[in-house]
Amino acid sequence: MDFQPVLDDIVSTLKPELGAGKVASYIPALARVSSHQLGIALRTREGAEYCAGDATTLFSIQSVSKVFSLTLAMRNLGEVLWQRIGREPSGNPFNSLVQLEAEHGVPRNPFINAGAIAVADRLVSTCGDGRAEILALLSSLCGEAVAFDEEVAASEAETGFRNIALANFMKGFGNIDNDVAPVLDLYFHQCSVAMNCVQLARAIGYLCNDGAHPLDGSALVSDRQARRINSLMLTCGTYDAAGEFAFRIGLPCKSGVGGGIVAVLPDTLSLCVWSPGLDETGNSLLGMKALEMFVARTGLSVF
Ligand code: GLN
Repeated sequence: MDFQPVLDDIVSTLKPELGAGKVASYIPALARVSSHQLGIALRTREGAEYCAGDATTLFSIQSVSKVFSLTLAMRNLGEVLWQRIGREPSGNPFNSLVQLEAEHGVPRNPFINAGAIAVADRLVSTCGDGRAEILALLSSLCGEAVAFDEEVAASEAETGFRNIALANFMKGFGNIDNDVAPVLDLYFHQCSVAMNCVQLARAIGYLCNDGAHPLDGSALVSDRQARRINSLMLTCGTYDAAGEFAFRIGLPCKSGVGGGIVAVLPDTLSLCVWSPGLDETGNSLLGMKALEMFVARTGLSVF
């Protein structure tokens, strides 16, 4: 199938709506990004790539990084990882503290902030250098060197009071083994990685290819692990809007407050859309619309 006309049509149809939504404003580096941008990239399982709009503009991947840190932790730890982290949708905002109290410091899932911080703790324990391993994984998956945006990482650390609270709270329950400082340093850095739609559509390709590395075909994770990551993305990947995403789009997705969303159609293709304007749940407003249009125009979804 030639996806190029579909992607071009999505970008031109949504053009009049550019600027909708609210750009994340908790740090200056994200607040100054123009909301008048929309990019979309697609990669088939076989490796054909298509893109439209601002697909090669770098943006802050933010919580999209949680898929990749989870992937590393699943590789390093296997089943034991799930002693520390649940697999249920939270039904709460991504940075909420309330549920953690009632659930004894065990985060609902790896895609809310508490869960990703618990994953970062596991990486600090099992990686020699967690920061380097994240960058090496992402660079290898997209075949291009990717880097942290150190300004974003520093601002995340300066303003990350809730994340600092979440880490300390979990440590109080014995669910964080390491000092909170290196754990948060890794979490803030993974959020700060800068990538574009083309790179992310490629990097997430292992989830539409039974866990095989998109470029060299080696086993990054097992088929079963890839299925599990896709399940978690479908049920928990877009925070409190996961039900709405499943209803309207029906693809495993993971979003970030930088405005990026990766999406997977298992065995077929992977996608990344980006538009910085967010809705009230912290998901890209036009990104969600673009995915909805993609599914409507192609009839491709897991359902
Ligand atoms: N850096 C952001 C935070 O930790 C990431 C959140 C997100 O993308 N949902 O609050």
